Amino acid sequence: MKDSVISAIIVILFWAVLPILCTAQSLCLRADPAQEASGVSNSTAPPGELGPSECDAPGPGQASPALERACFDAAFRMPVLRGDETVSMDLHYYLTGVLLAETPLSFADEALKAQAVASRTYALRSYSHRRHDPCAVCANPGCCQGWEDPAAVSPEARARAEAIVAETDGLVILYQGELIDATFFSCSGGQTETAAAVWGSDLPYLQTVDSPGEENAAHFEDETRIPLSEFQKALAEQDEAVQFPDALGAWVGNIRYTSGGGVDEIELGGRPFRGTWLRRRFGLRSTAFALELTDSEAIFTTRGFGHRVGMSQYGADAMARSGSSFKEILAWYYQGTAVERIS
Ligand SMILES: [Zn+2]
Repeated sequence: MKDSVISAIIVILFWAVLPILCTAQSLCLRADPAQEASGVSNSTAPPGELGPSECDAPGPGQASPALERACFDAAFRMPVLRGDETVSMDLHYYLTGVLLAETPLSFADEALKAQAVASRTYALRSYSHRRHDPCAVCANPGCCQGWEDPAAVSPEARARAEAIVAETDGLVILYQGELIDATFFSCSGGQTETAAAVWGSDLPYLQTVDSPGEENAAHFEDETRIPLSEFQKALAEQDEAVQFPDALGAWVGNIRYTSGGGVDEIELGGRPFRGTWLRRRFGLRSTAFALELTDSEAIFTTRGFGHRVGMSQYGADAMARSGSSFKEILAWYYQGTAVERIS
Protein backbone atom coordinates (compact mmCIF):
# COMPACT_ATOMS: atom_id res chain seq x y z
CA MET A 1 0.00 0.00 0.00
CA LYS A 2 2.75 2.37 1.01
CA ASP A 3 4.86 1.35 -2.04
CA SER A 4 2.00 1.96 -4.45
CA VAL A 5 1.48 5.48 -3.03
CA ILE A 6 5.19 6.25 -3.45
CA SER A 7 5.08 4.86 -7.01
CA ALA A 8 2.10 7.04 -7.82
CA ILE A 9 3.90 10.14 -6.48
CA ILE A 10 7.00 9.32 -8.55
CA VAL A 11 4.91 8.89 -11.72
CA ILE A 12 3.09 12.20 -11.12
CA LEU A 13 6.37 14.02 -10.48
CA PHE A 14 7.92 12.52 -13.62
CA TRP A 15 5.08 13.73 -15.89
CA ALA A 16 5.04 17.12 -14.17
CA VAL A 17 8.78 17.69 -14.69
CA LEU A 18 9.12 16.18 -18.19
CA PRO A 19 7.54 19.09 -20.13
CA ILE A 20 9.77 21.55 -18.25
CA LEU A 21 12.87 19.56 -19.17
CA CYS A 22 11.75 19.26 -22.80
CA THR A 23 11.09 23.00 -23.08
CA ALA A 24 14.44 23.87 -21.54
CA GLN A 25 16.27 21.50 -23.87
CA SER A 26 14.44 22.86 -26.88
CA LEU A 27 15.34 26.44 -25.94
CA CYS A 28 18.98 25.54 -25.43
CA LEU A 29 19.23 23.77 -28.76
CA ARG A 30 17.77 26.75 -30.55
CA ALA A 31 19.33 29.57 -28.62
CA ASP A 32 22.99 28.71 -28.12
CA PRO A 33 24.90 31.14 -30.32
CA ALA A 34 28.22 29.43 -29.66
CA GLN A 35 26.91 26.17 -31.09
CA GLU A 36 25.33 27.87 -34.08
CA ALA A 37 28.35 29.97 -34.89
CA SER A 38 30.88 27.19 -34.48
CA GLY A 39 29.10 25.16 -37.13
CA VAL A 40 30.47 27.47 -39.75
CA SER A 41 33.54 29.15 -38.40
CA ASN A 42 35.52 26.27 -36.91
CA SER A 43 36.94 23.08 -38.35
CA THR A 44 33.74 21.07 -37.85
CA ALA A 45 32.54 22.40 -41.22
CA PRO A 46 33.08 19.74 -43.90
CA PRO A 47 36.24 20.53 -45.87
CA GLY A 48 35.54 21.99 -49.28
CA GLU A 49 32.06 23.15 -48.42
CA LEU A 50 32.63 26.21 -46.33
CA GLY A 51 36.38 26.61 -46.42
CA PRO A 52 38.10 29.97 -46.35
CA SER A 53 38.81 29.95 -50.08
CA GLU A 54 35.09 29.81 -50.89
CA CYS A 55 33.51 31.71 -48.06
CA ASP A 56 35.82 34.24 -46.45
CA ALA A 57 34.76 37.29 -48.35
CA PRO A 58 36.13 40.54 -46.96
CA GLY A 59 33.81 41.94 -44.32
CA PRO A 60 33.42 45.63 -44.96
CA GLY A 61 31.64 47.26 -42.08
CA GLN A 62 33.58 45.46 -39.42
CA ALA A 63 35.07 48.67 -38.12
CA SER A 64 31.80 50.59 -37.98
CA PRO A 65 30.56 51.89 -34.61
CA ALA A 66 27.25 50.02 -35.02
CA LEU A 67 29.07 46.73 -35.31
CA GLU A 68 30.82 47.23 -31.97
CA ARG A 69 27.39 46.96 -30.34
CA ALA A 70 26.42 43.91 -32.41
CA CYS A 71 27.87 41.20 -30.16
CA PHE A 72 25.80 38.25 -31.31
CA ASP A 73 25.37 39.19 -34.95
CA ALA A 74 29.03 40.07 -35.48
CA ALA A 75 30.17 36.69 -34.21
CA PHE A 76 27.75 34.63 -36.28
CA ARG A 77 28.94 33.63 -39.76
CA MET A 78 26.25 33.28 -42.42
CA PRO A 79 26.91 31.34 -45.61
CA VAL A 80 24.85 33.14 -48.27
CA LEU A 81 24.18 31.98 -51.83
CA ARG A 82 24.56 34.97 -54.12
CA GLY A 83 23.95 33.99 -57.73
CA ASP A 84 26.13 30.88 -58.09
CA GLU A 85 28.59 32.06 -55.49
CA THR A 86 28.79 31.14 -51.81
CA VAL A 87 29.69 34.15 -49.69
CA SER A 88 30.30 34.05 -45.96
CA MET A 89 29.58 37.19 -44.02
CA ASP A 90 28.72 38.01 -40.45
CA LEU A 91 25.03 38.16 -39.55
CA HIS A 92 25.20 41.89 -38.86
CA TYR A 93 26.45 42.63 -42.38
CA TYR A 94 23.93 40.20 -43.87
CA LEU A 95 20.95 41.72 -42.02
CA THR A 96 22.07 45.25 -42.90
CA GLY A 97 21.95 44.17 -46.57
CA VAL A 98 18.53 42.56 -46.10
CA LEU A 99 17.13 45.74 -44.56
CA LEU A 100 18.51 47.79 -47.46
CA ALA A 101 16.92 45.46 -50.01
CA GLU A 102 13.63 44.64 -48.36
CA THR A 103 12.38 47.82 -46.67
CA PRO A 104 12.26 51.52 -47.55
CA LEU A 105 14.52 53.33 -45.08
CA SER A 106 11.87 56.05 -44.93
CA PHE A 107 9.87 53.67 -42.72
CA ALA A 108 9.63 54.49 -39.02
CA ASP A 109 12.41 53.12 -36.79
CA GLU A 110 10.17 50.66 -34.95
CA ALA A 111 8.95 49.18 -38.25
CA LEU A 112 12.54 48.75 -39.41
CA LYS A 113 13.48 47.11 -36.11
CA ALA A 114 10.53 44.71 -36.47
CA GLN A 115 11.82 43.87 -39.96
CA ALA A 116 15.36 43.29 -38.64
CA VAL A 117 14.11 40.89 -35.95
CA ALA A 118 11.87 39.04 -38.42
CA SER A 119 14.73 38.77 -40.92
CA ARG A 120 17.18 37.55 -38.24
CA THR A 121 14.66 34.91 -37.17
CA TYR A 122 14.10 33.84 -40.77
CA ALA A 123 17.85 33.66 -41.40
CA LEU A 124 18.68 31.63 -38.28
CA ARG A 125 15.84 29.20 -38.92
CA SER A 126 17.05 28.77 -42.49
CA TYR A 127 20.56 28.31 -41.12
CA SER A 128 19.44 25.40 -38.97
CA HIS A 129 17.70 23.85 -42.00
CA ARG A 130 20.57 24.61 -44.42
CA ARG A 131 18.00 25.75 -46.90
CA HIS A 132 20.50 26.01 -49.75
CA ASP A 133 22.99 23.50 -48.43
CA PRO A 134 25.74 24.37 -47.62
CA CYS A 135 24.34 27.90 -47.59
CA ALA A 136 21.70 29.04 -45.12
CA VAL A 137 19.88 31.43 -47.42
CA CYS A 138 20.03 32.87 -50.91
CA ALA A 139 19.85 36.54 -51.89
CA ASN A 140 16.81 36.13 -54.14
CA PRO A 141 13.81 38.01 -52.68
CA GLY A 142 11.43 35.62 -54.44
CA CYS A 143 12.94 32.68 -52.56
CA CYS A 144 14.53 33.73 -49.23
CA GLN A 145 15.26 37.40 -48.51
CA GLY A 146 16.55 40.12 -50.80
CA TRP A 147 20.06 41.40 -50.10
CA GLU A 148 21.87 44.54 -51.21
CA ASP A 149 25.56 44.91 -50.50
CA PRO A 150 25.93 47.64 -47.84
CA ALA A 151 29.24 48.60 -49.45
CA ALA A 152 27.34 49.64 -52.59
CA VAL A 153 24.89 52.14 -51.05
CA SER A 154 25.32 55.66 -49.69
CA PRO A 155 27.13 55.99 -46.34
CA GLU A 156 23.97 57.51 -44.85
CA ALA A 157 21.72 54.63 -45.90
CA ARG A 158 24.24 52.09 -44.69
CA ALA A 159 24.67 53.82 -41.34
CA ARG A 160 20.91 53.96 -40.77
CA ALA A 161 20.42 50.28 -41.61
CA GLU A 162 23.43 49.24 -39.50
CA ALA A 163 22.18 51.20 -36.50
CA ILE A 164 18.72 49.59 -36.72
CA VAL A 165 20.19 46.08 -36.94
CA ALA A 166 22.58 46.80 -34.04
CA GLU A 167 19.70 48.00 -31.85
CA THR A 168 18.03 44.61 -32.22
CA ASP A 169 21.23 42.56 -31.93
CA GLY A 170 20.51 38.91 -31.16
CA LEU A 171 16.73 39.36 -30.88
CA VAL A 172 14.58 36.63 -32.41
CA ILE A 173 10.92 35.58 -32.42
CA LEU A 174 10.07 32.34 -30.64
CA TYR A 175 6.91 30.26 -30.43
CA GLN A 176 7.01 27.72 -27.61
CA GLY A 177 10.79 28.05 -27.56
CA GLU A 178 11.30 27.49 -31.29
CA LEU A 179 12.35 29.99 -33.94
CA ILE A 180 9.27 30.82 -35.97
CA ASP A 181 8.85 30.85 -39.72
CA ALA A 182 8.91 34.65 -39.83
CA THR A 183 7.33 35.28 -43.22
CA PHE A 184 6.62 38.84 -44.29
CA PHE A 185 5.39 40.69 -47.35
CA SER A 186 4.82 44.20 -48.63
CA CYS A 187 1.13 45.03 -48.11
CA SER A 188 -1.95 43.02 -47.12
CA GLY A 189 -4.73 45.25 -48.43
CA GLY A 190 -6.30 45.38 -44.96
CA GLN A 191 -6.08 41.81 -43.66
CA THR A 192 -3.39 39.15 -43.57
CA GLU A 193 -3.79 35.57 -44.71
CA THR A 194 -3.31 32.27 -42.85
CA ALA A 195 -0.38 30.04 -43.73
CA ALA A 196 -2.84 27.21 -44.32
CA ALA A 197 -4.72 29.18 -46.99
CA VAL A 198 -1.56 29.82 -49.00
CA TRP A 199 0.77 26.91 -48.30
CA GLY A 200 -1.61 24.27 -46.95
CA SER A 201 0.02 23.82 -43.54
CA ASP A 202 -1.45 25.53 -40.51
CA LEU A 203 0.82 27.41 -38.10
CA PRO A 204 -0.74 28.82 -34.92
CA TYR A 205 1.21 32.08 -35.15
CA LEU A 206 0.45 32.73 -38.85
CA GLN A 207 -3.25 33.53 -38.70
CA THR A 208 -5.46 36.26 -40.14
CA VAL A 209 -5.15 39.65 -38.43
CA ASP A 210 -6.38 43.11 -39.40
CA SER A 211 -3.74 45.35 -40.89
CA PRO A 212 -5.11 48.90 -41.15
CA GLY A 213 -3.36 52.02 -42.39
CA GLU A 214 -1.74 50.60 -45.53
CA GLU A 215 -3.61 52.82 -47.99
CA ASN A 216 -0.47 54.74 -48.97
CA ALA A 217 1.35 51.59 -50.13
CA ALA A 218 2.21 51.64 -53.83
CA HIS A 219 0.21 48.48 -54.56
CA PHE A 220 -2.54 48.68 -51.98
CA GLU A 221 -4.95 48.33 -54.89
CA ASP A 222 -3.89 47.36 -58.37
CA GLU A 223 -5.22 46.15 -61.68
CA THR A 224 -4.03 43.37 -63.98
CA ARG A 225 -5.56 43.12 -67.45
CA ILE A 226 -5.29 39.89 -69.45
CA PRO A 227 -6.53 39.56 -73.05
CA LEU A 228 -9.63 37.37 -72.95
CA SER A 229 -8.26 34.86 -75.48
CA GLU A 230 -5.08 34.44 -73.39
CA PHE A 231 -7.18 34.02 -70.24
CA GLN A 232 -9.30 31.31 -71.91
CA LYS A 233 -6.24 29.51 -73.28
CA ALA A 234 -4.52 29.43 -69.88
CA LEU A 235 -7.58 27.98 -68.15
CA ALA A 236 -8.05 25.36 -70.87
CA GLU A 237 -4.40 24.32 -70.59
CA GLN A 238 -4.79 23.87 -66.85
CA ASP A 239 -8.12 22.01 -67.06
CA GLU A 240 -9.30 20.74 -70.42
CA ALA A 241 -12.86 20.23 -69.10
CA VAL A 242 -13.56 23.99 -68.94
CA GLN A 243 -16.39 25.20 -71.14
CA PHE A 244 -17.05 28.81 -72.08
CA PRO A 245 -20.68 29.55 -72.95
CA ASP A 246 -21.55 32.50 -75.20
CA ALA A 247 -22.80 34.64 -72.33
CA LEU A 248 -19.80 36.04 -70.44
CA GLY A 249 -21.89 36.33 -67.30
CA ALA A 250 -22.05 32.54 -67.10
CA TRP A 251 -18.26 32.08 -67.08
CA VAL A 252 -17.85 32.86 -63.40
CA GLY A 253 -19.57 30.62 -60.86
CA ASN A 254 -19.20 30.19 -57.11
CA ILE A 255 -16.36 31.89 -55.28
CA ARG A 256 -15.03 30.66 -51.94
CA TYR A 257 -12.99 33.10 -49.88
CA THR A 258 -10.31 32.53 -47.24
CA SER A 259 -10.59 34.02 -43.75
CA GLY A 260 -8.09 36.67 -44.88
CA GLY A 261 -10.25 37.86 -47.76
CA GLY A 262 -8.34 36.04 -50.51
CA VAL A 263 -9.93 33.94 -53.21
CA ASP A 264 -9.54 30.36 -52.09
CA GLU A 265 -11.35 28.83 -55.05
CA ILE A 266 -13.31 30.27 -57.97
CA GLU A 267 -15.41 28.47 -60.55
CA LEU A 268 -14.48 29.47 -64.10
CA GLY A 269 -15.95 27.84 -67.19
CA GLY A 270 -17.67 25.35 -64.90
CA ARG A 271 -14.42 24.18 -63.25
CA PRO A 272 -12.78 25.10 -59.90
CA PHE A 273 -9.50 27.05 -59.89
CA ARG A 274 -7.38 27.93 -56.87
CA GLY A 275 -6.75 31.60 -56.13
CA THR A 276 -3.05 30.82 -55.56
CA TRP A 277 -2.82 29.24 -59.02
CA LEU A 278 -4.48 32.24 -60.69
CA ARG A 279 -2.12 34.59 -58.88
CA ARG A 280 0.91 32.67 -60.06
CA ARG A 281 -0.35 32.10 -63.61
CA PHE A 282 -1.38 35.68 -64.33
CA GLY A 283 1.21 37.46 -62.17
CA LEU A 284 -1.40 39.01 -59.86
CA ARG A 285 -0.21 41.13 -56.93
CA SER A 286 -2.22 39.00 -54.50
CA THR A 287 -5.02 36.42 -54.19
CA ALA A 288 -7.37 39.08 -52.79
CA PHE A 289 -8.97 40.01 -56.09
CA ALA A 290 -12.22 40.76 -57.89
CA LEU A 291 -12.62 39.58 -61.46
CA GLU A 292 -14.47 41.40 -64.22
CA LEU A 293 -14.83 40.01 -67.75
CA THR A 294 -15.35 42.21 -70.80
CA ASP A 295 -15.56 41.24 -74.48
CA SER A 296 -11.80 41.69 -74.79
CA GLU A 297 -10.24 41.36 -71.34
CA ALA A 298 -10.22 39.65 -67.96
CA ILE A 299 -9.64 42.42 -65.43
CA PHE A 300 -8.34 41.49 -61.97
CA THR A 301 -8.53 44.17 -59.30
CA THR A 302 -6.22 43.13 -56.48
CA ARG A 303 -5.74 44.39 -52.93
CA GLY A 304 -2.36 44.01 -51.26
CA PHE A 305 0.98 42.84 -52.61
CA GLY A 306 2.59 39.50 -51.78
CA HIS A 307 1.49 36.22 -50.22
CA ARG A 308 -0.02 38.19 -47.31
CA VAL A 309 1.10 35.69 -44.65
CA GLY A 310 2.87 37.01 -41.54
CA MET A 311 4.02 40.61 -41.13
CA SER A 312 2.83 43.31 -43.50
CA GLN A 313 5.70 45.77 -43.97
CA TYR A 314 3.41 48.71 -44.72
CA GLY A 315 1.11 47.62 -41.88
CA ALA A 316 4.13 47.56 -39.55
CA ASP A 317 5.02 51.09 -40.63
CA ALA A 318 1.44 52.24 -39.96
CA MET A 319 1.55 50.67 -36.48
CA ALA A 320 4.94 52.27 -35.75
CA ARG A 321 3.64 55.70 -36.78
CA SER A 322 0.70 55.17 -34.43
CA GLY A 323 3.09 54.63 -31.54
CA SER A 324 3.57 50.84 -31.45
CA SER A 325 6.97 49.44 -30.51
CA PHE A 326 8.67 46.81 -32.66
CA LYS A 327 7.78 44.17 -30.07
CA GLU A 328 4.11 45.16 -30.23
CA ILE A 329 4.21 45.02 -34.03
CA LEU A 330 5.74 41.54 -34.01
CA ALA A 331 3.32 40.30 -31.34
CA TRP A 332 0.44 41.50 -33.51
CA TYR A 333 1.47 39.89 -36.78
CA TYR A 334 2.92 36.71 -35.21
CA GLN A 335 0.26 35.93 -32.62
CA GLY A 336 1.25 34.05 -29.47
CA THR A 337 5.00 34.58 -30.00
CA ALA A 338 7.67 36.24 -27.86
CA VAL A 339 10.74 38.31 -28.77
CA GLU A 340 13.80 37.09 -26.90
CA ARG A 341 17.55 37.62 -26.98
CA ILE A 342 19.34 34.57 -28.25
CA SER A 343 22.43 34.87 -26.05
ZN1 LIG B 1 16.48 30.93 -51.20
